[in-house]
Amino acid sequence: MDVWYFKCSNCEYEKKLTLGTYDLEQTFTDLNEDFVYYKLFICKKENMFVTGNIYDNHFDNRCLTDGSELVPVEESQPKKCPKCNTNILVEKIDLSEVIG
Ligand SMILES: [Zn+2]
Ligand SMILES: [Zn+2]
Repeated sequence: MDVWYFKCSNCEYEKKLTLGTYDLEQTFTDLNEDFVYYKLFICKKENMFVTGNIYDNHFDNRCLTDGSELVPVEESQPKKCPKCNTNILVEKIDLSEVIG
């Protein structure tokens, strides 16, 4: 599980999101219904980043807030701000540094 920090210097959009899996040791099998993997999406209605657990049976690529269809971010890191579409700063926060 990684924490990512997004910051746009143009419109000052700022967001911290947790992406990936909770537990690195968990493996995905049909028996494991608790598997979580948070993927990054863009809500076009709110113009912001949201995350969705793609292994959740109830998750259907729709925004939990407004029900609009989410656009998946396929790059490993987004390059553009969802609000103003200029280049965005993306930083991965090292959790071991934060804790230790
Ligand atoms: Zn922006
Ligand atoms: Zn939304």
